[in-house]
Amino acid sequence: MDIVLLRQAQSETLQIRTYHERLFADRVAEMRSIDEYREIDDQYLDICFAISKGEAYGEDTSALEIERERVAKDRDAILVKLGYPLDYLLKSHTCPICLDVGYIDGELCDCVKKRVAIIAKRNCKVPNLDKYTFESFDESIFEGTKQYKAMTALYRAMQTYVDKYPHVRYRNIVLMSPTGVGKTSLVSCMVNALIDKGVDVYYITAFEMNDLMVKYHTTMTDAREIYMQKLLSCDVLVIDDLGVEPILNNVTVENLLTVLNERKNSGLHTIISTNLDAEGIMLKYGERVWSRLFDREDTLARVIEGDDLRIINNGKTR
Ligand SMILES: [Zn+2]
Repeated sequence: MDIVLLRQAQSETLQIRTYHERLFADRVAEMRSIDEYREIDDQYLDICFAISKGEAYGEDTSALEIERERVAKDRDAILVKLGYPLDYLLKSHTCPICLDVGYIDGELCDCVKKRVAIIAKRNCKVPNLDKYTFESFDESIFEGTKQYKAMTALYRAMQTYVDKYPHVRYRNIVLMSPTGVGKTSLVSCMVNALIDKGVDVYYITAFEMNDLMVKYHTTMTDAREIYMQKLLSCDVLVIDDLGVEPILNNVTVENLLTVLNERKNSGLHTIISTNLDAEGIMLKYGERVWSRLFDREDTLARVIEGDDLRIINNGKTR
């Protein structure tokens, strides 16, 4: 989990808790500004105090407890008589499990994990990310296409990969296909599902990565490390559209190699989608990138031949 996002989510959780506490304090103050209510509330508080004191001295407080119950009922009756709902002075919470503390038995509560996912999705650059889920995947979009069998099988395989992550056979996935065959939607489903799992996923297009690397090379201070840091440290790096970016001398290939090597050494996962095939990758990036990308030990590579869905779907609507 990304520590920066976690801190953000924890800060949001604290804001929510503060909101409820303030709401409660305001309501108590509002009710205590009404004489009739304040009088019975004071009575109630006096009894509570007497019970605590009695308990501290080991005295029998059972009569006081019965009295407290009676006064509480009277106090509720006054609340209702004044036109307020019975739960007006009950403390409210957004998360009924951790009561907006963020932890339960020392473990992070699901509400914080969900907040981390929401922030991660907000920051993620996949367009319309919410639209892409394995659950809503409709294989009929491939009906009648050359890639029908391959793509539906690949969707299932990638869903299994995400479900089992990080306990998977291959750390790297390379998806190769011409434009329009459907791999970007598949990659988007993977990103969405991994974020939901709490995985620190960083999605970047090869084009954006090139820009980042230029910034890295033209920044002469230590501040430049920030450009590399996320690429090297995230749990899963997704490089989309490898091959469309221009090759910049001493930048593109060298940095791609650094990223791939360092991630391999750190045991981190990388998913790459590309419009090139293995030969195209060899021609564009050279043997070192090629052999790193297609290392059989580490990589599951798939080539998907097929039709351009955009053309087919246009045809259908005409
Ligand atoms: Zn919670």
